[in-house]
Amino acid sequence: MISLIVHGGAWDIPDDAVEAHRKGCSVALNIGWKILRSGGSAVDAVEQVVRSLEDDETFDAGRGSHLNAIGQVELDASIMNGRSLRCGAVAGLHCIRNPISLARKVMDESEHVLLVGDGAERFASEHDIELCDPQDLVTMRERERWSAVQGKENFTTKDAFRHQKAASDTVGAVALDKDGNMCVGTSTGGTFNKYPGRVGDSPLIGCGTYADNEVGGVSTTGWGEAMIKVVMAKTVIDLMEANGGVAQVAAERSIEILKRKAEGFGGVIVMNARGQFGIAYNTPRMARAYINAEMNEPFIAA
Ligand code: ASP
Repeated sequence: MISLIVHGGAWDIPDDAVEAHRKGCSVALNIGWKILRSGGSAVDAVEQVVRSLEDDETFDAGRGSHLNAIGQVELDASIMNGRSLRCGAVAGLHCIRNPISLARKVMDESEHVLLVGDGAERFASEHDIELCDPQDLVTMRERERWSAVQGKENFTTKDAFRHQKAASDTVGAVALDKDGNMCVGTSTGGTFNKYPGRVGDSPLIGCGTYADNEVGGVSTTGWGEAMIKVVMAKTVIDLMEANGGVAQVAAERSIEILKRKAEGFGGVIVMNARGQFGIAYNTPRMARAYINAEMNEPFIAA
Protein backbone atom coordinates (compact mmCIF):
# COMPACT_ATOMS: atom_id res chain seq x y z
CA MET A 1 0.00 0.00 0.00
CA ILE A 2 1.51 3.36 -0.97
CA SER A 3 1.50 5.72 1.98
CA LEU A 4 2.87 9.12 3.02
CA ILE A 5 3.09 11.07 6.29
CA VAL A 6 4.72 14.46 6.90
CA HIS A 7 5.34 16.75 9.88
CA GLY A 8 6.16 20.40 10.35
CA GLY A 9 7.26 20.47 13.99
CA ALA A 10 5.83 19.86 17.47
CA TRP A 11 5.56 22.85 19.81
CA ASP A 12 3.16 25.46 21.12
CA ILE A 13 2.27 26.69 17.60
CA PRO A 14 0.59 30.10 18.08
CA ASP A 15 -3.05 30.37 16.94
CA ASP A 16 -2.14 32.80 14.19
CA ALA A 17 0.47 30.41 12.74
CA VAL A 18 -1.70 27.27 12.68
CA GLU A 19 -3.15 27.87 9.21
CA ALA A 20 0.30 28.40 7.65
CA HIS A 21 1.49 25.13 9.22
CA ARG A 22 -1.54 23.23 7.93
CA LYS A 23 -1.15 24.72 4.47
CA GLY A 24 2.59 23.98 4.29
CA CYS A 25 2.01 20.34 5.29
CA SER A 26 -0.88 20.00 2.85
CA VAL A 27 1.08 21.40 -0.11
CA ALA A 28 4.05 19.15 0.66
CA LEU A 29 1.83 16.07 1.11
CA ASN A 30 0.24 16.71 -2.28
CA ILE A 31 3.61 16.91 -4.00
CA GLY A 32 4.73 13.60 -2.51
CA TRP A 33 1.40 11.87 -3.09
CA LYS A 34 1.49 12.71 -6.81
CA ILE A 35 4.93 11.14 -7.06
CA LEU A 36 3.88 7.96 -5.24
CA ARG A 37 0.61 7.64 -7.15
CA SER A 38 2.36 7.89 -10.49
CA GLY A 39 4.65 5.04 -9.49
CA GLY A 40 7.58 7.15 -8.27
CA SER A 41 10.00 6.01 -5.59
CA ALA A 42 9.75 6.70 -1.86
CA VAL A 43 13.18 8.38 -2.03
CA ASP A 44 11.99 10.84 -4.71
CA ALA A 45 8.78 11.52 -2.79
CA VAL A 46 10.59 12.24 0.48
CA GLU A 47 13.16 14.49 -1.18
CA GLN A 48 10.49 16.58 -2.92
CA VAL A 49 8.20 16.75 0.14
CA VAL A 50 11.03 17.95 2.36
CA ARG A 51 12.23 20.45 -0.27
CA SER A 52 8.76 21.97 -0.32
CA LEU A 53 8.77 22.33 3.47
CA GLU A 54 12.32 23.76 3.40
CA ASP A 55 11.22 26.34 0.83
CA ASP A 56 8.25 27.39 2.99
CA GLU A 57 9.44 30.10 5.40
CA THR A 58 6.86 29.01 7.97
CA PHE A 59 9.14 26.18 9.07
CA ASP A 60 12.50 25.90 10.84
CA ALA A 61 14.21 24.33 7.83
CA GLY A 62 15.92 25.93 4.85
CA ARG A 63 15.20 29.66 4.49
CA GLY A 64 13.35 31.01 7.54
CA SER A 65 15.20 28.80 10.03
CA HIS A 66 16.06 29.97 13.55
CA LEU A 67 19.31 31.86 14.04
CA ASN A 68 22.09 30.55 16.25
CA ALA A 69 23.69 32.51 19.10
CA ILE A 70 25.80 34.56 16.68
CA GLY A 71 22.92 35.34 14.34
CA GLN A 72 23.55 32.78 11.60
CA VAL A 73 21.37 30.10 10.03
CA GLU A 74 23.00 26.66 10.41
CA LEU A 75 21.17 23.77 8.73
CA ASP A 76 21.09 19.98 9.27
CA ALA A 77 19.30 17.17 7.38
CA SER A 78 19.25 13.42 6.89
CA ILE A 79 17.65 10.80 4.64
CA MET A 80 17.51 7.01 4.84
CA ASN A 81 16.49 4.31 2.39
CA GLY A 82 14.77 1.42 4.15
CA ARG A 83 15.55 -1.10 1.42
CA SER A 84 19.33 -0.95 1.70
CA LEU A 85 19.74 0.97 5.00
CA ARG A 86 21.80 3.41 2.94
CA CYS A 87 21.69 6.86 4.44
CA GLY A 88 23.09 10.35 4.02
CA ALA A 89 23.27 13.31 6.37
CA VAL A 90 24.66 16.85 6.51
CA ALA A 91 25.12 19.29 9.37
CA GLY A 92 26.30 22.81 10.10
CA LEU A 93 25.50 24.21 6.63
CA HIS A 94 25.49 27.96 5.97
CA CYS A 95 25.08 28.18 2.19
CA ILE A 96 22.64 25.45 1.10
CA ARG A 97 18.97 26.18 0.43
CA ASN A 98 17.82 22.56 0.37
CA PRO A 99 19.90 20.44 2.73
CA ILE A 100 17.73 17.36 2.07
CA SER A 101 18.97 17.23 -1.53
CA LEU A 102 22.57 17.40 -0.34
CA ALA A 103 21.87 14.62 2.18
CA ARG A 104 20.50 12.56 -0.71
CA LYS A 105 23.68 13.18 -2.73
CA VAL A 106 25.74 11.98 0.24
CA MET A 107 23.57 8.85 0.40
CA ASP A 108 23.67 8.16 -3.34
CA GLU A 109 27.12 9.35 -4.38
CA SER A 110 29.52 9.12 -1.46
CA GLU A 111 30.96 6.32 0.63
CA HIS A 112 30.15 8.26 3.81
CA VAL A 113 27.05 8.85 5.90
CA LEU A 114 27.54 12.26 7.55
CA LEU A 115 29.36 15.32 6.20
CA VAL A 116 29.55 18.59 8.14
CA GLY A 117 30.37 22.26 7.56
CA ASP A 118 33.00 23.16 4.96
CA GLY A 119 33.43 19.56 3.78
CA ALA A 120 29.70 19.18 3.17
CA GLU A 121 29.59 22.45 1.23
CA ARG A 122 32.63 21.41 -0.78
CA PHE A 123 30.86 18.13 -1.61
CA ALA A 124 27.81 20.17 -2.67
CA SER A 125 29.78 22.28 -5.13
CA GLU A 126 31.38 19.16 -6.60
CA HIS A 127 27.94 17.57 -7.08
CA ASP A 128 25.98 20.32 -8.81
CA ILE A 129 24.26 21.63 -5.70
CA GLU A 130 24.21 25.38 -5.81
CA LEU A 131 25.64 27.35 -2.88
CA CYS A 132 23.74 30.46 -1.77
CA ASP A 133 24.65 33.58 0.17
CA PRO A 134 24.19 32.77 3.92
CA GLN A 135 22.07 35.92 4.21
CA ASP A 136 19.56 34.48 1.73
CA LEU A 137 18.52 31.99 4.42
CA VAL A 138 17.74 34.69 7.01
CA THR A 139 14.23 36.16 7.26
CA MET A 140 13.12 39.33 9.03
CA ARG A 141 10.87 37.33 11.41
CA GLU A 142 13.80 35.26 12.64
CA ARG A 143 16.15 38.27 12.86
CA GLU A 144 13.60 40.00 15.11
CA ARG A 145 12.96 36.90 17.21
CA TRP A 146 16.69 36.53 17.73
CA SER A 147 17.29 40.21 18.53
CA ALA A 148 14.62 40.04 21.23
CA VAL A 149 16.62 37.57 23.38
CA GLN A 150 20.12 39.00 22.95
CA GLY A 151 21.54 40.15 26.27
CA LYS A 152 18.95 38.16 28.24
CA GLU A 153 20.99 36.09 30.65
CA ASN A 154 18.31 33.60 31.55
CA PHE A 155 17.54 32.32 28.09
CA THR A 156 18.40 28.66 27.50
CA THR A 157 17.04 26.30 24.87
CA LYS A 158 16.44 23.68 27.53
CA ASP A 159 14.18 25.96 29.54
CA ALA A 160 12.41 27.10 26.42
CA PHE A 161 11.61 23.47 25.55
CA ARG A 162 10.64 22.67 29.14
CA HIS A 163 8.11 25.45 29.05
CA GLN A 164 7.10 24.29 25.59
CA LYS A 165 7.64 27.76 24.21
CA ALA A 166 10.58 27.03 21.94
CA ALA A 167 9.58 26.97 18.33
CA SER A 168 10.27 23.45 17.08
CA ASP A 169 9.45 23.70 13.41
CA THR A 170 11.65 20.93 12.06
CA VAL A 171 10.17 19.12 9.06
CA GLY A 172 10.11 15.46 8.05
CA ALA A 173 8.46 12.81 5.89
CA VAL A 174 8.04 9.04 5.70
CA ALA A 175 7.00 7.42 2.41
CA LEU A 176 6.23 3.88 1.25
CA ASP A 177 6.18 3.26 -2.51
CA LYS A 178 4.50 0.67 -4.74
CA ASP A 179 7.54 -1.61 -4.53
CA GLY A 180 7.30 -1.72 -0.72
CA ASN A 181 10.34 0.53 -0.23
CA MET A 182 10.36 2.97 2.62
CA CYS A 183 12.26 6.25 2.88
CA VAL A 184 12.49 8.84 5.68
CA GLY A 185 13.89 12.38 5.60
CA THR A 186 14.24 15.12 8.23
CA SER A 187 15.49 18.71 7.88
CA THR A 188 16.00 21.50 10.41
CA GLY A 189 17.58 24.80 11.33
CA GLY A 190 18.01 23.33 14.80
CA THR A 191 17.10 25.00 18.04
CA PHE A 192 16.68 28.73 18.44
CA ASN A 193 19.79 30.63 19.62
CA LYS A 194 21.85 27.40 19.71
CA TYR A 195 25.59 27.52 20.28
CA PRO A 196 27.41 27.79 16.91
CA GLY A 197 28.33 24.30 15.75
CA ARG A 198 25.66 22.64 17.86
CA VAL A 199 24.16 19.62 16.12
CA GLY A 200 20.85 18.09 17.25
CA ASP A 201 19.05 14.86 16.53
CA SER A 202 17.75 15.61 13.03
CA PRO A 203 20.89 14.70 11.01
CA LEU A 204 21.77 11.76 13.27
CA ILE A 205 20.63 8.44 11.86
CA GLY A 206 18.73 6.59 14.58
CA CYS A 207 17.89 9.78 16.48
CA GLY A 208 16.01 12.04 14.02
CA THR A 209 15.54 9.61 11.15
CA TYR A 210 15.32 5.85 10.64
CA ALA A 211 13.95 3.57 7.89
CA ASP A 212 13.93 -0.20 7.62
CA ASN A 213 11.65 -1.88 5.06
CA GLU A 214 11.17 -4.83 7.41
CA VAL A 215 9.76 -2.69 10.23
CA GLY A 216 8.92 0.88 9.19
CA GLY A 217 10.08 4.47 9.26
CA VAL A 218 10.27 7.34 11.78
CA SER A 219 11.01 11.09 11.70
CA THR A 220 11.21 13.10 14.93
CA THR A 221 10.98 16.72 16.07
CA GLY A 222 11.53 18.40 19.41
CA TRP A 223 14.31 19.08 21.86
CA GLY A 224 17.24 17.40 20.12
CA GLU A 225 19.48 16.92 23.14
CA ALA A 226 16.80 14.75 24.77
CA MET A 227 16.03 12.92 21.52
CA ILE A 228 19.71 11.96 21.17
CA LYS A 229 19.84 10.57 24.72
CA VAL A 230 17.08 8.05 24.02
CA VAL A 231 18.09 7.42 20.35
CA MET A 232 14.52 8.33 19.56
CA ALA A 233 13.87 7.15 15.99
CA LYS A 234 15.53 3.74 16.43
CA THR A 235 13.79 3.33 19.79
CA VAL A 236 10.44 3.67 18.02
CA ILE A 237 11.54 1.14 15.37
CA ASP A 238 12.64 -1.34 18.05
CA LEU A 239 9.38 -0.91 19.98
CA MET A 240 7.42 -1.46 16.78
CA GLU A 241 9.41 -4.55 15.85
CA ALA A 242 8.76 -5.97 19.31
CA ASN A 243 5.02 -5.23 19.30
CA GLY A 244 4.28 -6.78 15.91
CA GLY A 245 4.20 -3.52 13.96
CA VAL A 246 1.61 -1.44 15.83
CA ALA A 247 2.80 2.05 14.88
CA GLN A 248 0.56 4.09 17.20
CA VAL A 249 1.46 2.12 20.32
CA ALA A 250 5.18 2.41 19.53
CA ALA A 251 4.83 6.17 18.95
CA GLU A 252 3.07 6.74 22.28
CA ARG A 253 5.48 4.53 24.20
CA SER A 254 8.50 6.41 22.77
CA ILE A 255 7.15 9.77 23.91
CA GLU A 256 6.61 8.34 27.38
CA ILE A 257 10.25 7.15 27.39
CA LEU A 258 11.48 10.54 26.12
CA LYS A 259 9.68 12.38 28.94
CA ARG A 260 10.49 9.94 31.74
CA LYS A 261 14.16 9.28 30.99
CA ALA A 262 15.31 12.59 29.47
CA GLU A 263 12.64 15.12 30.49
CA GLY A 264 12.20 15.64 26.76
CA PHE A 265 9.50 17.25 24.65
CA GLY A 266 8.64 16.65 21.04
CA GLY A 267 6.83 14.45 18.59
CA VAL A 268 7.24 11.54 16.18
CA ILE A 269 5.63 10.44 12.92
CA VAL A 270 5.75 6.70 12.35
CA MET A 271 4.79 4.30 9.55
CA ASN A 272 4.85 0.52 9.73
CA ALA A 273 5.86 -1.73 6.84
CA ARG A 274 2.18 -2.04 5.82
CA GLY A 275 1.80 1.75 5.44
CA GLN A 276 -0.18 2.32 8.66
CA PHE A 277 0.49 5.43 10.74
CA GLY A 278 1.39 6.39 14.29
CA ILE A 279 1.71 9.92 15.66
CA ALA A 280 2.48 11.02 19.21
CA TYR A 281 3.69 14.25 20.84
CA ASN A 282 3.76 15.81 24.28
CA THR A 283 3.77 19.43 23.13
CA PRO A 284 0.55 21.45 22.85
CA ARG A 285 0.48 21.09 19.06
CA MET A 286 2.13 19.25 16.19
CA ALA A 287 1.80 20.06 12.47
CA ARG A 288 1.12 16.81 10.58
CA ALA A 289 -0.58 15.34 7.54
CA TYR A 290 -0.97 11.89 6.02
CA ILE A 291 -2.64 9.89 3.29
CA ASN A 292 -2.52 6.30 2.09
CA ALA A 293 -4.15 4.22 -0.62
CA GLU A 294 -7.12 3.41 1.65
CA MET A 295 -8.05 7.08 2.21
CA ASN A 296 -10.09 9.31 -0.11
CA GLU A 297 -8.99 12.54 1.56
CA PRO A 298 -5.76 13.45 3.35
CA PHE A 299 -5.73 14.07 7.11
CA ILE A 300 -4.20 17.48 7.90
CA ALA A 301 -3.87 19.05 11.36
CA ALA A 302 -1.78 21.44 13.47
N1 ASP B 1 15.00 18.44 16.80
C1 ASP B 1 15.52 19.70 16.31
C2 ASP B 1 16.87 19.93 16.93
O1 ASP B 1 17.01 19.72 18.12
C3 ASP B 1 14.66 20.86 16.60
C4 ASP B 1 13.24 20.73 16.17
O2 ASP B 1 12.70 19.64 16.06
O3 ASP B 1 12.65 21.76 15.89
O4 ASP B 1 17.75 20.38 16.24
